[in-house]
Amino acid sequence: MSIYIDPAVAASLRGFEMPEKLGFGTVMAPVMFRAVCQDGCWSQGELVPYAPLALDPAAKVLHYAQSCFEGMKAYRTQAGGVSLFRPERNAARMAHSAARLCMPPVPEALFMDGVRTVTAYCANLVPATSGESLYLRPFLFGTQADLSVSASTSYEFYVIASPSEAYHAGNMRLWVEREDSRAALGGTGDAKVGGNYAASLRSVARLKERGYDQSLWLNPGNRNTVDELSGMNFFAVINGELHTPALSGSILEGVTRDSLIDLARDMGYTVHERAIDIDELLGQVAEGSCDEAFACGTAAIVSPISLFGDGGREYPLAKAPGPVAERLRQMLLDIQEGRAEDKFGWMHPVEVVSID
Ligand SMILES: *Cc1c(COP(=O)(O)O)cnc(C)c1O
Repeated sequence: MSIYIDPAVAASLRGFEMPEKLGFGTVMAPVMFRAVCQDGCWSQGELVPYAPLALDPAAKVLHYAQSCFEGMKAYRTQAGGVSLFRPERNAARMAHSAARLCMPPVPEALFMDGVRTVTAYCANLVPATSGESLYLRPFLFGTQADLSVSASTSYEFYVIASPSEAYHAGNMRLWVEREDSRAALGGTGDAKVGGNYAASLRSVARLKERGYDQSLWLNPGNRNTVDELSGMNFFAVINGELHTPALSGSILEGVTRDSLIDLARDMGYTVHERAIDIDELLGQVAEGSCDEAFACGTAAIVSPISLFGDGGREYPLAKAPGPVAERLRQMLLDIQEGRAEDKFGWMHPVEVVSID
């Protein structure tokens, strides 16, 4: 289907000034993509100026949280072009998240039109500094104005974008969360939905008071094996081999996680996907066989973990940042920014549209 380009888009883009300081996710590109779905039928996609939304106060999303999102990046490559990283994985994951919440999946072609069109028109906003990128945020929510508890009959899909610095999580101090859960067994932990984040906020607020940065979530069924962080997946290096929790049903399947597994194996590392018992892991940190751990996700790519706190004890990692995390981060970034061969076919170049 063709995409409608609002004539006001050119003026919005021309009038946009890139601020000196970008931060992460705070500067918004002046255009957005939108499409609406009524009774299962999707409208034409449109690129329009960035603007507040009009929502009926009874819209289902505001009461019953029918909403999911994605996070992905467009990178400036060595050759000067702009490329998306594995966008089809985000399209598939958004369809999975939507289905979990009884929302119509955004058709893959419409999702790709959205992220490609925003990137193509915002190509000048993709920063050239290594580690910086245009962060893309596709999202879908139910808009039907009706307080009865049932799936909405109408939905809106948007893609907004934010030129961003690298998200610096730093050397993270993790708190092993033994009380709260971010997701339930049979719940929405493997879907990228805002409700999981809402459920994670109290834990993070509490641990910040104690001097920690992020919660390490345990499996909500056994409360004994490691799941992930609130928005990043988890890896530990034990005796030189990589270990990451096997997908448990309450873990969000990260594109970065998946890519790092392939990349690490290709670089000669042994990678285990398995249930990781938290007490066993802390014992291995204490005795030194686990000397490195890190988290990964689109925003921060790879973030080293410096320490685990659990009850009254602290378990510092010997190496933070460790050499395995550093090597993987650099290799992934080299592929994303076009300095290394894209041997897995992960990069999708976008044909840029010039304004004027
Ligand atoms: C988005 C997200 C991740 C990371 O996924 P990527 O595709 O690598 O960005 C990990 N955990 C949770 C809970 C997430 O929402």
